[in-house]
Amino acid sequence: MNPLNSIRPLIPKTNPITTDYEITKQVLGLGINGKVVECFDKKTREKYALKILVESEKAKREVNLHWRASGCRHIVNIIDVYQNKYHNNTCLLVVMECMEGGELFQRIQDRPEGAFTEREAAQVMNEICVAVKYLHDINIAHRDLKPENLLYSKKGTYGVLKLTDFGFAKETINKDTLQTPCYTPYYVAPEVLGPEKYDKSCDIWSLGVIMYILLCGFPPFYSNHGLAISPGMKKRIKTGQFTFPLPEWQNVSGDAKDLINGMLNIDPAKRLTIDEVMNNRWIAQYTAVPQTPLHTNRLLKEGEEMWPEVQEEMTRSLATMRVDYDQVVMKPLENSNNSLLDKRRKKSVLTSLKI
Ligand code: ADP
Repeated sequence: MNPLNSIRPLIPKTNPITTDYEITKQVLGLGINGKVVECFDKKTREKYALKILVESEKAKREVNLHWRASGCRHIVNIIDVYQNKYHNNTCLLVVMECMEGGELFQRIQDRPEGAFTEREAAQVMNEICVAVKYLHDINIAHRDLKPENLLYSKKGTYGVLKLTDFGFAKETINKDTLQTPCYTPYYVAPEVLGPEKYDKSCDIWSLGVIMYILLCGFPPFYSNHGLAISPGMKKRIKTGQFTFPLPEWQNVSGDAKDLINGMLNIDPAKRLTIDEVMNNRWIAQYTAVPQTPLHTNRLLKEGEEMWPEVQEEMTRSLATMRVDYDQVVMKPLENSNNSLLDKRRKKSVLTSLKI
């Protein structure tokens, strides 16, 4: 948990992890790329979570970016990384803080006391925004910000909400581009730096969806027929069609609705930035937000069976958005009116035709 992680390169330890940690068979969760098990520091007996990844370029990128982010209180911090060989496979073993308090919305749904309030929703949003600001400030876009990646460290009031899973995280400043002679940092054009905004705007869209669910207990976009992402729903997401239906939204403040509108703006270039979100008074002064009781915990409970579908839909929307935004980034170069580029293109055509 060192703020210097953002600049300190990660050098995995190469001694066997078992010299320092006792690995148990207790599975904490299954991911797409491997499992997460419980482990204990042999000296302190402290409990941690261990994620095991087979080494690949993708795995290295995930671990490197997660390591750089490991200085923030609202991000699951990496404690240690080992590179060990198992049956001819090189593996990355990632020791992380163990999150024992479960997922964000499960906790809201299960709360024993009264209705979840608008002020509590604002506090939760403030905490998630702290994590996103930390990432965006060090030029990392998470790109997979969704309910199952928001976990509490402990059960009860002492639990801290933290963001995890850097499997789709992306560095938003492309160092390779900046280091080529064409783009020295002194005169790099704004269009070259510009596209980073799109990756970051993906996280803001997620913040908007999460805030909407926090305030009412159901998502802003949902398919009509329970089908996998229907054409209708895709259109509603693309055209930003969502409403604040009554009675659930009756007593929710106008400030909250305005903020959601700013975060779910269909045009990623017009969507709020994390700094604008953080400066919004509903987030910055969350302790002054009215303690209006919400329908959230009741509706989460009533819609419990539909929750896996809600999660799948968000996963699919994020996947579509990542692909779309990656293409947006490619477009300007192809369509650009850069005369030097035109000359080069003509030259390469002529060369290929041997003229
Ligand atoms: P993947 O990126 O392969 O989907 P995740 O990092 O999301 O894998 O982890 C898979 C599951 O393991 C999570 O859904 C969660 O239940 C559990 N898990 C992950 N990290 C932790 C942690 N630090 N503490 C406790 N459980 C965790």
